[in-house]
Amino acid sequence: ASTTIGSSVIPIINRLQDIFSPVDGELSKISLPQVAVVGSQSSGKSSVLEALVGRDFLPRGCDICTRRPLALMLVNRPRNPGDDGREWAEFRHLPGKRFFDFTKVRQEIMVIVFGMLFICLTIPQYHIVKYHAETNKEAGSNRGVSEKQIGLKISSPNVLNMTLVDLPGITKVPVGDQPTDIEARIRKMIMAYIRQENCIILAVSPANSDLATSDALQMAREADPTGSRTIGVITKLDIMDRGTNACNFLLGKVVPLRLGYVGVVNRSQEDINKNRSMQDALAYEKNFFRDHPVYNGLSDRCGIPQLAKKLNQILEQHIRMVLPGLKSELHSRLNAVAKELQKYGDVMESKAEKETMLLNILTKYCEAFSAMVDGRSQEISTK
Ligand code: GDP
Ligand code: MG
Repeated sequence: ASTTIGSSVIPIINRLQDIFSPVDGELSKISLPQVAVVGSQSSGKSSVLEALVGRDFLPRGCDICTRRPLALMLVNRPRNPGDDGREWAEFRHLPGKRFFDFTKVRQEIMVIVFGMLFICLTIPQYHIVKYHAETNKEAGSNRGVSEKQIGLKISSPNVLNMTLVDLPGITKVPVGDQPTDIEARIRKMIMAYIRQENCIILAVSPANSDLATSDALQMAREADPTGSRTIGVITKLDIMDRGTNACNFLLGKVVPLRLGYVGVVNRSQEDINKNRSMQDALAYEKNFFRDHPVYNGLSDRCGIPQLAKKLNQILEQHIRMVLPGLKSELHSRLNAVAKELQKYGDVMESKAEKETMLLNILTKYCEAFSAMVDGRSQEISTK
């Protein structure tokens, strides 16, 4: 069961992101808070994301996994009486198409990322034409990484409201036909996300490698020197060397972080191969921490539910801080659109129609914002 801590504010941000993402031009420049997951390859980034969502849907465990940033918008859909509690996913490039089967979501991501060859070889039932343009343009051949974001929205009664970005992992050595400057390119792409002031950084480091030299913490420090928007996540606590533990790290005694650390245990590759369910894995994690002589005294710093809670609190604080600025930015955009409309008159009717629609949406959300900021309203419909 999940509690929606930020229910009063965060749905608006998600809704706005929904509205703005397909709009070209000025409006899409408004930057909204989101959470980016960084770390070296195989540190467990995708596993953490999946665990936060509570579903299997990301390509995982292979050395070629995340090649394009994946923006994952989690939308909490309150469960009504008689609601079957169904969860579904929707891609930005396939509006209106709901995926109820999450293995299909993974296939779709693979299709986008790996392109035509992959489709033809492994998923012949896919209607190829639809993806032709995008795949060829973005993934093309099997080269390296692409900067173009994949947008995926998950509606569920079991998630907290937030947007998460899964970024390609930092690789040191190019494999296959990857370009020789792959590391520099990935670093640049990651920095472009996490340097933004309104990006919350989830810096993922595996506990079974040297934490003091973690790529994730290094990049996070570069992007966020004051550590005001970085949460440390330590994965793989279950496979540390015997006789060692991550206690000092979780307590911030090795690399201090203002927002602190959360330690997690995700599924191992064997668990994944054996199709161990997410619920099983979460139950296992809970028992692991409860029964562990060191970690059971650190329960506020351990476990995926703790991470979700922490994340949402931080996100909400952050959004409350930027709301007033966002509001005035929206207002000025609104004025600009209104002026443009007057100028065009009847001449550009279809353009005007589109912008009127946009104007209406914006007006509605500006009002919602004002109500929120002035404290006149607590709840905003996300419908
Ligand atoms: P990414 O490349 O950072 O996205 O890493 P993945 O999430 O794909 O994980 C890489 C591998 O590590 C997979 O085989 C996972 O099953 C495994 N893994 C991730 N987290 C944990 C963990 O907490 N414990 C164990 N034992 N394995 C993990
Ligand atoms: Mg990954």
